[in-house]
Amino acid sequence: MKQLWQNCHAATMVGGRYSIIEDAAILTEGRLIQWIGRRAELPAHEVQRRHDLGGAWVTPGLIDCHTHLVFGGDRSAEFEQRLQGVSYAEIAAAGGGIASTVRATREASEDDLLASAIKRARPLLADGVTVLEVKSGYGLDLASERKMLRVARRLGEVLPVTVCATCLSAHALPAEYAGRADAYIELICTEILPALAAEGLVDAVDAFCEHLAFSPAQVERVFQAAQRLGLPVKLHAEQLSSLHGSSLAARYQALSADHLEFMTEEDAIAMAAAGTVAVLLPGAFFVLRETQLPPIEALRKHGVAMALASDLNPGTSPALSLRLMLNMGCTAFRLTPEEALAGVTLNAAKALGLGHTHGSLEAGKVADFVAWDIQRPAELAYWLGGDLPKRIIRHAEEVSCG
Ligand SMILES: [Zn+2]
Repeated sequence: MKQLWQNCHAATMVGGRYSIIEDAAILTEGRLIQWIGRRAELPAHEVQRRHDLGGAWVTPGLIDCHTHLVFGGDRSAEFEQRLQGVSYAEIAAAGGGIASTVRATREASEDDLLASAIKRARPLLADGVTVLEVKSGYGLDLASERKMLRVARRLGEVLPVTVCATCLSAHALPAEYAGRADAYIELICTEILPALAAEGLVDAVDAFCEHLAFSPAQVERVFQAAQRLGLPVKLHAEQLSSLHGSSLAARYQALSADHLEFMTEEDAIAMAAAGTVAVLLPGAFFVLRETQLPPIEALRKHGVAMALASDLNPGTSPALSLRLMLNMGCTAFRLTPEEALAGVTLNAAKALGLGHTHGSLEAGKVADFVAWDIQRPAELAYWLGGDLPKRIIRHAEEVSCG
């Protein structure tokens, strides 16, 4: 079906800039954008349906390119305990922290995990998100990792959102492998990844490179296993210390390196050369009350594409709004509102390997867009909260997330 969407202004985000078209019109055919430009220049057309967007601002649908939104239980009780003075070490000794999420995720049924994931995805979607990445990494054995990734796939079937599934089995060391990290890495490379990839459950492979997680040498083995399976890689790197995981990621042409507070200028140069996107996660920075800022100036100077994501997870970023991350990216990391918006559109698409089909409004791309009740694009990063989408369109169809 051919449709015309008009009476709007567009921040198309072409080239990662606002790339504004005032008084714009968008022609869609099927699920794709056929033409976008000034309404005065609209080519001759025949359409089945016309839509009046009421003077709204239109942007690409938002893309949350880093979430852990499938998990069992939550950690609100620990949050409260910590604020009552119980130390993180005491909580961990009592089986809390990530171990408690792994336990709850292993115990939960697939349907229970799906129900709780839907509950968390809805507010993201209502905020304008049309593409969502979901990681495994709380199962840490084949059956439980498979269960998480199946939930990710089902999420994309029951909700109006495109879901990218990332295998993050190298997230933490499961208790049964205590003191045997290399053996667990071997299990990931020879059993977990090949099996889940064969089942079509994996779009990308991720790992956590940090002193309290896995070493660069261990991560490299996971990357090599991914490479053998023809899967792209990403990496949690430089969140708490500098191990140059982001340079390692660049050597493997990673789609993205994420967190990056402790990265160096040399890492930025390597990422720029490889086209690896820097995914910044201000939610975790805020919740952990970190003080080390990611080197935004170095990323700008070397032309590394920057994305922003919610990092939605039960421990360090229980964030249910991607738009709130735009404000945090600007306020805490000093991004401009334009950079922040590029970070949840075009650059987020690149971080998922979807840069050719999503993330900007241009002919040939998927017709995912949001009509916002705002006077200028900067408002998307300015307001803390609020209900700004007027209409959300995915695959050229109106979706309702109420
Ligand atoms: Zn993460």
